[in-house]
Amino acid sequence: MTGQPLPLIHIGGTPREMGLDFGKARRESILHMVANVKTFLGQTYGQIRLTWPEAILQAHKYLPFAQELTPRYVEELRAMAEGADVAFDDLMVLNCLEAITTDALHLLGCTTFVATEERTAEGRVLIGHNEDWLPADESDVFLIHAEPEGEPAFLAMTYGALLPNIGFNAAGICQCCDSVYPSDVRIGVPRIFVSRAVLAAQTISGAITAALAPHRAAGYNHTLVHTSGEAYNVEVSARHFSLMYAQGGILAHTNHYLSRRMSRLENDAQHLIGSRVRYFRAMRLLRRTHRHNRETLRGILSDHVNHPNSICSHEVLDENPLDQQKTVCSLIIDLNEREMHAAWGVPCENEYFTYRLSA
Ligand SMILES: [Zn+2]
Repeated sequence: MTGQPLPLIHIGGTPREMGLDFGKARRESILHMVANVKTFLGQTYGQIRLTWPEAILQAHKYLPFAQELTPRYVEELRAMAEGADVAFDDLMVLNCLEAITTDALHLLGCTTFVATEERTAEGRVLIGHNEDWLPADESDVFLIHAEPEGEPAFLAMTYGALLPNIGFNAAGICQCCDSVYPSDVRIGVPRIFVSRAVLAAQTISGAITAALAPHRAAGYNHTLVHTSGEAYNVEVSARHFSLMYAQGGILAHTNHYLSRRMSRLENDAQHLIGSRVRYFRAMRLLRRTHRHNRETLRGILSDHVNHPNSICSHEVLDENPLDQQKTVCSLIIDLNEREMHAAWGVPCENEYFTYRLSA
């Protein structure tokens, strides 16, 4: 597991072919994630009050919106269920989890930052991302090399049965997503379907437009970067958005809204102090040099200031299950080389292995 290279699957073709191959290749970890989320809802029933049948009922409310606006990815998910021989309803719950738990998964982190050619050695465009999630799913993380019919090939990271959304494509578009907590949520297209569609973008404006899909249920912060060094944070909620452009070749985001306009939508700003600390720390470390490279990015991703709620996030065993999280995967993306360097688990202890988009 950790310390090892992440598993990599190759899929391609129509949405149905992609989903079937995904489901067959990853059946075990799909079942594992379904079981983990059932356990999680059981442990947190006192706070979230959601049984599994109720979770399915809730997820079904989002389905017509996903079906109408992102039919291709609903088809992918249906085929994934078929390939893994699991119920589609169960996979729908996993892919709507943030929405149906009314965002009670409040402290789930993730840190993303960018250094463009002005700030890197050899003029590279580099992106760092720590994926912070439920520790029980760490074993379910893997990478996907995909060649979808009619869309750019992509290399992405995901886990369990989640549609992939973090990675980059052959058009030179990279996306990393960080959870944010808007109060204007509604029944609509779940965030994961919206962000899956962004991975198919051919241009940076196409990627931004895809992140702002009509009738979206809520939103992430989408850090969107093009090989040319164009880099944005696109802060999204159900009804609003804000674009922030990289200044001086650097950009970072964690789990609170940075723009004043969007931060007004946060109900629980005081729950997001740890996110603010990670954001300022990442920005300070980014400003330290104009010669960033994979090693300096690894240093930032492994940073322990404010431990255990540091950029490199470690599990705290005695906490409420709602507050438990850790870095389950760490990525350094070199957009010029079309390479992803991925460490399984916390980056302070685990080696990065290199994967390349070959299409
Ligand atoms: Zn660490």
